[in-house]
Amino acid sequence: MKIMVAIKRVIDYAVKIRVKPDKSGVETSNVKMSMNPFCEIALEEALRIKESGRASEVVAVSVGPAQCVDTLRTGLAMGADRAIHVDYPGSLYPLSIAKILKALVEAEKPGLLLLGKQAIDDDCNQTGQMVAGLLKWPQGTFASKVVLDEEKQVATVDREVDGGLETLCLDLPAVITTDLRLNQPRYATLPNIMKAKSKVIKKGHPTGFER
Ligand code: AMP
Repeated sequence: MKIMVAIKRVIDYAVKIRVKPDKSGVETSNVKMSMNPFCEIALEEALRIKESGRASEVVAVSVGPAQCVDTLRTGLAMGADRAIHVDYPGSLYPLSIAKILKALVEAEKPGLLLLGKQAIDDDCNQTGQMVAGLLKWPQGTFASKVVLDEEKQVATVDREVDGGLETLCLDLPAVITTDLRLNQPRYATLPNIMKAKSKVIKKGHPTGFER
């Protein structure tokens, strides 16, 4: 089974945000950018599933400007097998991202799509739910535990809800969004950073989102 992980490039969590002088948004030039922390958790989970023998390939995908390639390279250094970058210079609403992700899923046919529960720049918390709706796939959001049963083709997901934990059993393929307590993401080691340089980052085209 293939796992696709959606990775967003965001302003690093440790950066103090500055509003642009014209108040049109936040300053992003000369600001440290990183992988969205919840996407790191999603990628870590995909890698753990692959290492346990229940997945054969992890594909990282990102939509955004050319610099997203650096973020994807970090994902490849963590252990993703290959990556797809959909080049789009501007910022897009979650529904547009969800439509692009749907097109990528239809092309790649993963058995599982993992996303962060939210991106820490816009705090939308919408993309996973929307892409699940568009694909008509079951969804488990705010996952704090994921167990895959390859034989039965189901994922058991513990989700963090207001009253505590809820356990869902999802038929695969499914969409899962990751919460903070799911795992502790690994750091990329130097040998893996070197190895990542020769991994493939394919260019994708932002099709489908205008519909
Ligand atoms: P949001 O709905 O914007 O809070 O984002 C939730 C999750 O959707 C993120 O953690 C990512 O996994 C995914 N996502 C959002 N924007 C992008 C993007 N531009 N490229 C890839 N994945 C994205």
